[in-house]
This record gives sequence, structure tokens and C-alpha cells, in this order.
Amino acid sequence: MTRGRSGVRRGGRESSPGPPHLGGEYELPDTPSGDPEDARSAWPCPGVSAHPVRVTSEYRALGWDSLPQGRYRVVEHTCSCRTVFYELVSCGGLYMIHRVIQRRPPEHAFTGRWTLREAREMWQRVLTGQAR
Ligand SMILES: [Zn+2]
Repeated sequence: MTRGRSGVRRGGRESSPGPPHLGGEYELPDTPSGDPEDARSAWPCPGVSAHPVRVTSEYRALGWDSLPQGRYRVVEHTCSCRTVFYELVSCGGLYMIHRVIQRRPPEHAFTGRWTLREAREMWQRVLTGQAR
């Protein structure tokens, strides 16, 4: 679990309380670019969940599908203060990432059918902007 953590950390910016398990990678753009990834939803930020950072220039594009593979259970999730949030879900013994765009109506998409190990690696890539 060391891959995907390098090169994204910015030192010396600790003014905001970040998610503990991401240690200092919390970052909120000052000026929304119009990208839904950066937009704030109407939810107040509880500040306890992860906030995915902006994608890097060479991020991996995941294939998103609109249908889940059956019933699923949420393992981890990013903060719902963003218009777009993600959930790591367990589904029939495999793991997927669920993306929710909080529009009216909300848009749901799913990707992956991974083992937990693979899913956690991909989850970290999503959080660090290396895959979306
Ligand atoms: Zn938040």
C-alpha cells in the first residue's frame, strides 16, 4: 500500500483540518472552475471524511457503468460536501467504486469488480487524483 501516495503531498499547508487517514492532503480550491469535481454541494462540511483532490494531468480514466452489480454495502466514502462524492462499496464478494453526482436527480455510476486489495489501491488513486 505504498503506491499512489507519492508526489501529491504538499508540505506546509496545514491550516485546514484534514481527514486523519489522509494526513494533510485536504485541499479545497478557492475558485470553482465549473468542473463538478470542484463544486460545493449544499451540505455543510462535517470535516471527517476524505476529500478527493483534483485529478492529475495523467490520471487513469475508469470505465463507469450506471448499474450496480446487485446489492452493495458502503465500506468507505468521501465527503458529501462536494457535488461529486465517491463510495468504496462491497458487492457480492467483490468491491466497486460508486460515484454520485448530486444533481436533481442524482447521477450514479459504478466501476470495478475488484478484490479488496485491488479496490483499496484504486480507492487511493481516486482520492489522490490519479484515477477517476
Ligand atoms: Zn467536506
